[in-house]
Amino acid sequence: MAENKKILLYRIDEQAKNVIFVVTEDDPKLWGNISEDMQTILSFDEIFRDITEFRNGFLDYEQLTDELIGTINGRGAVFREILERFDDNRLNSFNFFTRYYSDTLRDIFLSARADIDKAGAFFNTRALKKSTEYVNEVFNNIREVMRDDWNFDFNSESDMKAFRLSFDKIIIRGNDRNDIYTVADTALVNFFYDFSFAIHSRKLYVCSCKYCGKVFLGKKNAVCCDGTECQATYQNELKNAKRRERDNGTYQKYLTKLSNYIGQQKPKLSARVNEDSEVLQRFDKERKAYTQILKDKIEEYQAENRLPDDEMEQFYIQLRKKFARFWNGLAVEWEKEHRGEL
Ligand SMILES: [Zn+2]
Repeated sequence: MAENKKILLYRIDEQAKNVIFVVTEDDPKLWGNISEDMQTILSFDEIFRDITEFRNGFLDYEQLTDELIGTINGRGAVFREILERFDDNRLNSFNFFTRYYSDTLRDIFLSARADIDKAGAFFNTRALKKSTEYVNEVFNNIREVMRDDWNFDFNSESDMKAFRLSFDKIIIRGNDRNDIYTVADTALVNFFYDFSFAIHSRKLYVCSCKYCGKVFLGKKNAVCCDGTECQATYQNELKNAKRRERDNGTYQKYLTKLSNYIGQQKPKLSARVNEDSEVLQRFDKERKAYTQILKDKIEEYQAENRLPDDEMEQFYIQLRKKFARFWNGLAVEWEKEHRGEL
């Protein structure tokens, strides 16, 4: 083979919550030159969304790819026509996985097609069968990986499995560098395992943004993604909730004041009045009624998003005065009724 096989390297940075990908060739001489501009850095969220999108649209992708595989040993014109559609699909996609799988498969398809063209008029059935078999095997592997939820168990909740997997690491060390990359297998199985586990060990969960509806990886029960607009709305809502809470406190202050005030009135009368159960019952009834009046007023304010103001202060003062009148009246009445008993 004149050209080296392309390989995908990845390095997961759990702290930064991103993954660094590098596409290079299977040639150690090239690895030392891997520079920053050869890296594609994707955040955990971006990868997660791309995986989800790719898996959700996999039936369409599979259809197109199967069509292309079906024409590998057919007429050249048909193969090229479908290859064009396959290429368009890759070019129009911003999805990392669509692009990666398409590039990988394209190389394999073209090399199989070249083999078949070489066999040409001789129609070497054995060579033909071998080529298409390999193509099918590679795509079947991708198909299986995509369909198996176990590979995408981001929260490590599924049943335990143990198996052996071989893959290479590439270490670029020296000149203040110590980069350790993993060489991804063609179907990206090892990448999905590593990625899922990174999500798990960072204690991230699959959440859904209540503003834009997008899924994202966040703390357990998180409701807002990292999107600028969503964050702005979310922060605003948080602020409003805090203000509501504070305002609530401001309203509650009046209820506390009233309760304290009423409580202080009782001892102002003689112990004998306070021992009269009828008096106590009336006191309690009035206390409840006044509290309810104040509560209703507060609810009115809250419904109108109105902060306590002078009117509220006056309302409270009037309420207090009314209660005082009731209580004093009760005392006078009691004294009258019990005159002579003292
Ligand atoms: Zn959002």
